[in-house]
Amino acid sequence: MENCIFCKIINQEIPSYKVYEDDKIYAFLDISQVTKGHTLVVPKQHVADIFEYDDDLASEVFARIPKIARAIEKAFPEMQGLNIMNNNKELAYQSVFHSHIHLIPRYSKEDDFS
Ligand code: 5GP
Ligand code: ZN
Repeated sequence: MENCIFCKIINQEIPSYKVYEDDKIYAFLDISQVTKGHTLVVPKQHVADIFEYDDDLASEVFARIPKIARAIEKAFPEMQGLNIMNNNKELAYQSVFHSHIHLIPRYSKEDDFS
């Protein structure tokens, strides 16, 4: 989709730090890390939010999350927990309207940026 920042990232028109990629999804580090390793998982198909997912897309995206969570854990073995978050529509704090799932590693309180 034109003028979508995450479509541009998927198409490598804007640089990003890739965490994982396959034919269905692209995962990359959030530019504004809540904690180190904060990753966004986005479907390659442009959908604005969760309301636009069909069953197949939901399965494809969510089935890949455990694998990506384990990759983050491997990169940051000191990680002690992980939040999975998905904001939908402006009122719910969505700011980029290409659906994405936040994977936010949690460490000891001292390591937390927030
Ligand atoms: P939302 O608020 O929509 O749930 O999350 C959007 C996220 O996208 C924010 O955490 C923000 O830091 C991240 N973001 C926005 N623009 C860019 C960008 O150009 N590159 C990367 N890597 N992350 C971005
Ligand atoms: Zn898009």
